[in-house]
Amino acid sequence: MKCDLVLKNGNLIDHKGNIFKNKNIYIKEGKILTIEKFQENKIIEGDKIVDCKDKFISPGLVNLHVHSPMNIFKGIAEDVDIDAWFNEEIWPYESNMTGNDVYIGALAAISEMINNGVTAFADHYMEGERISDAVLETGIKGDIALTIFGMSDDFEKELQKTAKIIEKRREESSRLNLRFGPHAPYTCPGDTLKKIIDKAKELGTGVHIHLSETEEQVKDSLEKTNKTPFEVMNDAGGFDISCIIAHGLWMKEEDEKYLNKNTYIAACPKTYMKLNSGYGTLWDDFKNKPLAIGTDGAASSNTLDPMEQLRLYALIGKISKEDARDFTLKDMWNILMKGHEALDFNSGRLEEGYAADLLVWDLNKINTLPLYNPLASIIYSSNSKNITYTIVDGKILKDNGEVIISKKDIEKELVKTSEDILKRSKGNTKLVY
Ligand SMILES: [Zn+2]
Repeated sequence: MKCDLVLKNGNLIDHKGNIFKNKNIYIKEGKILTIEKFQENKIIEGDKIVDCKDKFISPGLVNLHVHSPMNIFKGIAEDVDIDAWFNEEIWPYESNMTGNDVYIGALAAISEMINNGVTAFADHYMEGERISDAVLETGIKGDIALTIFGMSDDFEKELQKTAKIIEKRREESSRLNLRFGPHAPYTCPGDTLKKIIDKAKELGTGVHIHLSETEEQVKDSLEKTNKTPFEVMNDAGGFDISCIIAHGLWMKEEDEKYLNKNTYIAACPKTYMKLNSGYGTLWDDFKNKPLAIGTDGAASSNTLDPMEQLRLYALIGKISKEDARDFTLKDMWNILMKGHEALDFNSGRLEEGYAADLLVWDLNKINTLPLYNPLASIIYSSNSKNITYTIVDGKILKDNGEVIISKKDIEKELVKTSEDILKRSKGNTKLVY
């Protein structure tokens, strides 16, 4: 039977980190049609056949929390504390941002993510329509949360507008999902958070929100409302629906009862280190938390590389808990794969019927050899050059090491955008961190 794509004779690494040697994966109409043992003399038919001999094939990576357009701000706010980062740099620059900036930033981010093996990402930003355009154009999968601030003067109008966009665009492609992005409880005061969540329930979609990102936020919340940010979210009904939580770095133990099968936490340790947000509680009881990996935006983390974030998560875990035996390779692989469960893209399994969102790893390079333990090579030694193919819905987006989404123009546009941003300079913002 003729397939669209065949990955021939690869070693599979499944979502649990188990390895199965010498397999063919047959792909048709974007899905895994079948997987079988490679046989030397059997004729394989396919429109395209990729020889994966001595290579590894895994599910793609998910970036569960990113502000993709912030690639336009990469490097603009360095060596500042988190207050200055928000109040004196990022929010004033963002107030003068245009829809085209968002689009160019998203394209740049997507190009970088595909290079780093990301097949799906969960975004949280303003002008989500432009991010959606970038998703549709490039072939990646995107779950786009449209950011809303409850303290905005025309909140009600914003909410209606956001709902309309979600209704209009969510059916456009199976690669695109849209949800509500209430920024955080502290920026959605009063009943605005509940109103957003009620609207999400009405439309049958989910939410993506920043919760307990810093110790200060938790203290402030307790002072003002006598509740933790998780409690505020729970009282507003936020855990009744599909919920992506960014950070949860300072989640309290008593908040763990709110976590359920709809809830996933995106850990972005590079940002916490960069902005000195502390160790928090994200490494406590980590096996019982629905942890996945995010990168946060490039303005704070500078790279959109889930593997780098995972590596940092493991290393911080080992040193902060003073136990080199914990935070094992298999634990880390589970966290890396967890993001698939949070998104509605039928991905993350090397099984028949699942989306063909896959990576081919070439670990036969100086940085990853020898291969005593392929998971160790990937988690602790690999870089983007080891990812030779990034495949989404059976379509090759990184082909033999080259990202094939008009990369040159994006680089030029990105430079031009950065010049415009400096010319426009900082504007006024009502937001206060
Ligand atoms: Zn964020």
